[in-house]
Amino acid sequence: MLIAASIAIVLYCFVPVVAQIVQKLVNLSGIKNLTLQLLFYQVGLVVVGLLIELLFVPTNESSLKKLIHQPSKSALNDLISWGFTLFNLENFFFVFCTFGIFHFLMSKFVEILPFSKPFFEIQSPLASFIILLVLSDLKNYIWHRIMHNNVFWSLHAFHHSATEFTILTTYRTHFLQKIVSVVLDTFLFIIFNVPTIQFFYLRALQDIQQILQHSNVNWNWGWIGRWLLVSPNAHKIHHSTNPMHFDKNYGNFLIIWDRIFGTYAPLEHRIEIGIPTNPYNQSNYFSDIFRGILDLKTAFFGLFSPKK
Ligand SMILES: [Zn+2]
Ligand SMILES: [Zn+2]
Repeated sequence: MLIAASIAIVLYCFVPVVAQIVQKLVNLSGIKNLTLQLLFYQVGLVVVGLLIELLFVPTNESSLKKLIHQPSKSALNDLISWGFTLFNLENFFFVFCTFGIFHFLMSKFVEILPFSKPFFEIQSPLASFIILLVLSDLKNYIWHRIMHNNVFWSLHAFHHSATEFTILTTYRTHFLQKIVSVVLDTFLFIIFNVPTIQFFYLRALQDIQQILQHSNVNWNWGWIGRWLLVSPNAHKIHHSTNPMHFDKNYGNFLIIWDRIFGTYAPLEHRIEIGIPTNPYNQSNYFSDIFRGILDLKTAFFGLFSPKK
């Protein structure tokens, strides 16, 4: 009787507090910012990607077939990853895992930064868009190379563990990797004080490019693919299981960074995609995400253990 009464009192006192904390976390996660327009945009992108593939790829090799007709564990991981992106659930996870502390610190940090005036004031909208595109792409190239480093590879391996491409492979990113990318983008956005619409156009361009890069089209794009943009075939090389192709074609939108830093390789013959020893796609999406977190922890603490 006494125990029941104690539990009732504790619940009476704490449930409203817990409910308030949960409400705050939900607000921080931005899940309420999900609009119908954003959903239409995300679904529209995928529909366009699927249609392009159906026009240029035999139905048997298309993402549509891979995703709806007896999908492999790899294709299912792509599909679930897309679902999580679509409904902004990755951020929701992240906020709850960190009790919102990270988002709170970020908002405070941004408040105290001396960015009331932008570092650079560029008058021409076209010039500011091109500068934003180039710098954002250079940032993506550097960040991608860092992700192939031992510690961060623990997270990025989930993207590379796809054993076949579907256009949804682009969404197959560990939520911890995605959150850092968003933070880096936010800084770029603040430093240049670019209009929100330009940021949206940039994301749209990058999204289309990423969808095509993970499609099954056999496109090199001629000299444009050799010198300017990352073609779908160039990105296939980046996912190749052949050691000859490791650390090649890190580019996100522009291939020029791979040309400048000597990491470019063209696609010369048919390749297998995935990672050589692939522990992923065995069980389910959550166990693969959890594997990334465990591997990250092991790699991080491995940095401090004495070398044998
Ligand atoms: Zn990579
Ligand atoms: Zn990829």
